[in-house]
Amino acid sequence: MFPFIYHRPADLAAVQALIAAQEEAKLLAGGQTLIATLKQRLASPSDLVDLGAVPGLAGIHREGDTLVIGAMTPHAQVHASPLIREALPALAELAGLIGDPAVRNRGTLGGSIANNDPSADYPAACLALDASIVTDRREMAATAFFRDLFETALEPGEIILRVVFPLGGVGAYEKFPNPASRYAMAGAFVWRAAAGVRVAITGTGQAGVFRWEEAERALTEAFNVDALEGLSLDGDAMISDIHGTGAYRAHLAGVMTRRAVARLAAQG
Ligand SMILES: Cc1cc2nc3c(=O)[nH]c(=O)nc-3n(C[C@H](O)[C@H](O)[C@H](O)COP(=O)(O)OP(=O)(O)OC[C@H]3O[C@@H](n4cnc5c(N)ncnc54)[C@H](O)[C@@H]3O)c2cc1C
Repeated sequence: MFPFIYHRPADLAAVQALIAAQEEAKLLAGGQTLIATLKQRLASPSDLVDLGAVPGLAGIHREGDTLVIGAMTPHAQVHASPLIREALPALAELAGLIGDPAVRNRGTLGGSIANNDPSADYPAACLALDASIVTDRREMAATAFFRDLFETALEPGEIILRVVFPLGGVGAYEKFPNPASRYAMAGAFVWRAAAGVRVAITGTGQAGVFRWEEAERALTEAFNVDALEGLSLDGDAMISDIHGTGAYRAHLAGVMTRRAVARLAAQG
């Protein structure tokens, strides 16, 4: 690990001042990715600005037809929240599938989406529901937020404050976890609302999370597994690595989508 200065500011203004003062400063949430990166000497920030003591960044509440989750809310809280279990049960379930208990207790929603790992789970929920990402500078639709592998629309020093998930539909998330890391080899979040069906696929895309629009169109017309007959993703456009080929991942993503649709269709 390279040396750095650790800060634990008590409010957002102090975070912003610290992050603006040092070009090489980095925000620290639960450290589940960042600390490992530092240990491997893959990053050498001059300063770490811990968001842990800033009031108002963690928490869950309902606002009209939306569910608002603070950036610093750990996955374990999303999983256990009675409010989320009632209003958006697929999201509570998704959070419970992330990593192991240690990761779920420290890792945060904001850290997960800022990191935009191509195998992370939350990006699929954000994209399927077209959640809004609220930062200290602006509000962005998830479709604009996730850009590429480990790349988002965040500008240097921009801080995610919360994510706003629209309600009013039903969703299901199916994931095939890598047996070693628990990250998604393929994950499909299917969201069925009055405006239509949205399908977001994680774990497979060469540019990270993406919408499977062909499946969306078919499912909007007829919501059942048969509507997906003959549809498949292009294996050549999927990640191919030591864990699996692109063709394997494309197949898995199709299977996960069908499972999610079958579960939702069974609910009526
Ligand atoms: C063993 C292991 C297994 C895992 N398995 C899974 C899995 O199955 N599924 C899955 O989805 N994830 C998995 N993860 C990732 C984990 O869920 C965390 O969400 C992820 O590592 C981010 O961690 P963090 O919230 O602690 O953020 P940190 O590591 O603290 O930060 C990550 C990045 O986000 C930036 N950042 C953090 N918060 C903000 C903010 N509010 N605004 C702007 N930028 C911010 C940081 O500067 C840093 O660049 C796993 C991690 C580990 C270590």
